[in-house]
Amino acid sequence: MNIWNPWHGCSKISPGCKNCYVYRRDAMYGKDSSVVSKTKNFNFPLAKARNGDYKLQSCDGKVYTCMTSDFFLPEADCWRREAWSMIRERPDLEFVIITKRIERFYEELPLDWGQGYKNVTIICTCENQEMADKRLKIFLELPIINREIIEEPMLEKINIEKYLATGKISCVTCGGESGDNPRPCDYGWILDTREQCVRQNVSFHFKQTGGKFIKDGKVYLIDRKYQQTQAERAGIDFTPVKFSESEFQELFERLKKSEFRSSFKLKQRDREYIESKGIEKIESHCRDFIRERLAPKDISNDGKQTPMKGHPVFIAQHATATCCRGCLYKWHRIAPGRELTACEQDYVVSVIMEWIRSQIEQ
Ligand code: SF4
Repeated sequence: MNIWNPWHGCSKISPGCKNCYVYRRDAMYGKDSSVVSKTKNFNFPLAKARNGDYKLQSCDGKVYTCMTSDFFLPEADCWRREAWSMIRERPDLEFVIITKRIERFYEELPLDWGQGYKNVTIICTCENQEMADKRLKIFLELPIINREIIEEPMLEKINIEKYLATGKISCVTCGGESGDNPRPCDYGWILDTREQCVRQNVSFHFKQTGGKFIKDGKVYLIDRKYQQTQAERAGIDFTPVKFSESEFQELFERLKKSEFRSSFKLKQRDREYIESKGIEKIESHCRDFIRERLAPKDISNDGKQTPMKGHPVFIAQHATATCCRGCLYKWHRIAPGRELTACEQDYVVSVIMEWIRSQIEQ
């Protein structure tokens, strides 16, 4: 992992800072962490080896920036423009900035920032509900291309689902607290955040358990060296389902080859209905049908919930094998027995609307 610390030192601003690892580590060397200073690695992204190549190569992966401070710290306002300038000069690197001071984002932001630099990921830290509500509202309004959230040290159950539902967050990472006297982290809180991510089709990563981990009401004291591996062993990371253009095309090719699926066509009355309502209204009906009849985890009449006539969307559902959870699994590999995520519902609606549009054009 590449780390670039252009400055060192920080000040505590919220409950998550209580046992800050920078303070803990500096204390071991008698160093005062509240003193903020530029480091000798300030120019690291532009540093060159003897052969003239950059020391940091694009194949080196992500560059975690400001890990012993906060990039948006007021004391660093005088250096931030220069740091942004180096980031702009290295579009081949991906800079990851984790902050508890997202409200200071605009301080010394470069004039050419626009909607954001593509090579920058900003991660907003939220250790409890109060900080999540305070910071995420601001975070979502900022011009940032790559946005993630980290709940670490996670101090309580945190509901961020309404923020995830905006579709602007690509990943959420959770973890407990390390150090000598860590505050507890409950596995139930981790699972709850994971469920929110699954429902909203956002990536989820369980990074580490922390030193005091509660599972099923039992407290486990976990040594630092096992905290990450224990989290990995839980096996609860989640990667959203993404449907590529080629998979989409391949699906329609398969549907065409099915005698049963390809027997469904829009009738004249269906076309007239679409004409009278407009395609946007039909899509809106489609969303409602999918949410109410196909998306729930438990469907008592699964296999019979989609009539054979009465609405163009019903015909399209049979034609595209999105009529019940059994067909959805067989043809689209979307498992039954759980609620469809927002992204999966979007996918089903896209498939249905694509079929309806192709029928209208015929
Ligand atoms: S913002 Fe981060 S680096 Fe600064 S004191 Fe808090 S935990 Fe430590």
